[in-house]
Amino acid sequence: MLSGGIGGARFLMGLRELGHDITVVGNTGDDLTVLGLRICPDLDTVMYTLGGGISAERGWGREAESFRVRDELASYAAGVEAAAELIPSWFGLGDLDLATHLIRAQWLAEGVTLSEVTRRLCERWQPGVDLLPATDTAIETHVDLVDGRRVHFQEWWVRMHAEVAAIGFEVVGASDATAAPGVVEAITSCDVVILPPSNPVVSVGVILAVRGIADALRSTAAPVIGLSPIIGGAPVRGMADACLSAIGVETTAAAVAHHYGARDSGGLIDGWLVDDVDERAVDEVRSYGIACHSAPLMMTDLGATAAMAQAAIDLAGEVRR
Ligand code: GDP
Ligand code: CA
Repeated sequence: MLSGGIGGARFLMGLRELGHDITVVGNTGDDLTVLGLRICPDLDTVMYTLGGGISAERGWGREAESFRVRDELASYAAGVEAAAELIPSWFGLGDLDLATHLIRAQWLAEGVTLSEVTRRLCERWQPGVDLLPATDTAIETHVDLVDGRRVHFQEWWVRMHAEVAAIGFEVVGASDATAAPGVVEAITSCDVVILPPSNPVVSVGVILAVRGIADALRSTAAPVIGLSPIIGGAPVRGMADACLSAIGVETTAAAVAHHYGARDSGGLIDGWLVDDVDERAVDEVRSYGIACHSAPLMMTDLGATAAMAQAAIDLAGEVRR
């Protein structure tokens, strides 16, 4: 499964219930460096969620978190000009979370790859899946704004709440990035590839921008099945519509399926699930050469999420070549 942060992690909770062997290819385009620490928001969200450490209320970061270090840094930023530019006040750096970033920074500084760092972190968290970064090369999604500015995706998303319109995205470093060890092999040797209801542009789209990964999806013998992150013309949580409109894709379940495209005609997916409220989109998606059903796609609880995952596996069985 390819995964972003919150949407991918929640879906994985349900998929894991089904008892399959799961390899997760995580988005690293959200990664950023703060105070010399490389932070990997989507990998950490998957690891903390599946490892039982996520804040249920926030959906990111640690449960029972405190922010004493962040507050102390803010005091430096307020009083010392040279500190202000180093410390993004909008980024929620929690005290417990910081331990992850510190130990990751130390290993990266020693030359350990991000894959190996992630494996080591998961030794503690035991997520019950193999979590691989899409790439060991540092990549970052940057956003071109309508007012001419270019900012890191995190700044646009977290600080600006995507309120200034985006006109495009660039995955900086992607042209030099190759898939991390095991990623292409996982995609080409698995029984089913799943695109969960993660953000199609800045989560799944960024993973696909890493050289070799889209080709692996096109060539694998496994069926590739996606679940719509758009329900009734809106992202369930978050602001994915702001990302879709920036790349000229309508915020509908059918338009996202069309954006991925049918593998039979050079695209990436064989099957697509839309929510029951989008039942009328099923025929349109089928007209693109993509097998399609409707099902309940709201990840309201573990049971509902596991049923979504089972529906994706069932659809894979239908389209298996
Ligand atoms: P992020 O990296 O934290 O933004 O998480 P992802 O990219 O993995 O997933 C975010 C996407 O999940 C959002 O754009 C929503 O469209 C989608 N999403 C969130 N909750 C639900 C849900 O209950 N059902 C469905 N179908 N999609 C959801
Ligand atoms: Ca993300």
